[in-house]
Amino acid sequence: MFVGHYGVAFAVKTERNKIPLWVLFVAVQLLDFLWAPFVLLGIEKVRFVPGITATNALDLYYMPYTHSLIGALFWSAVAFAIYKIGWRNIASSSAALLVGFAVFSHWLLDLIVHRPDLPIYDDTLKVGFGLWNYRAIEFGLEIGILLFGAVLYLKRNGAIANPIVIFQRCQSRIFRCWPRSKSGHSKAEIKRFAYV
Ligand SMILES: [Zn+2]
Repeated sequence: MFVGHYGVAFAVKTERNKIPLWVLFVAVQLLDFLWAPFVLLGIEKVRFVPGITATNALDLYYMPYTHSLIGALFWSAVAFAIYKIGWRNIASSSAALLVGFAVFSHWLLDLIVHRPDLPIYDDTLKVGFGLWNYRAIEFGLEIGILLFGAVLYLKRNGAIANPIVIFQRCQSRIFRCWPRSKSGHSKAEIKRFAYV
C-alpha cells in the first residue's frame, strides 16, 4: 500500500491527542522509511519481477527487519518510546500509544495488499492477502482509506482545505516512484526506487 497509509495518519490526529500531523505521517510510513536504507545497505532485499503482481513488479523476498510482524511490533514500541520521551511536555501515554499504533497500522494495511511476502518473524511464515493482484479494487481501497481519514480530519479540525488537494499532494509524491517498466530493472533503478 502507498497513499492509503496516510489516511490512518489523518484519522488518528485530533486536537485532544495533540500529536503533530507530520509525526503521524512519519509513523504510518516508518516501516517503508526504514526499508529503503535497509535495501540500499543490502540488509533487506528486493528485486523487480515483471508481472509478479498486477499492480507493481516488486518481489519483496527478504525484509525480516522492517516488514515482519515481530519487526513491525518492535518498531511500534520504539516509536512509542521515542514519542513519549521526545514529546514529554505534551505526550500522554495514550498519545504515545496512538503513535505506536500508527506505525503498526502500516503492517496491517500492507497485509491486505501484499502478496505473501510479509514474514511473521525472521524470514518465515509469510503472509499477504494479495490485493495488489486486483488493481482497481486495490486502488479504490487506497483512495477510500485516504479520503475517509482526510474527511474525518477536516471535519474534526474544521479546516477549509479540500481533501482532493491533500490526496493529490500525497499522490504526486508517492506515485512518482511507481515502477513502470515491464522489462527488467537494473540495480541502479532499484537504488533510485529505494531513495525515493
Ligand atoms: Zn510497507
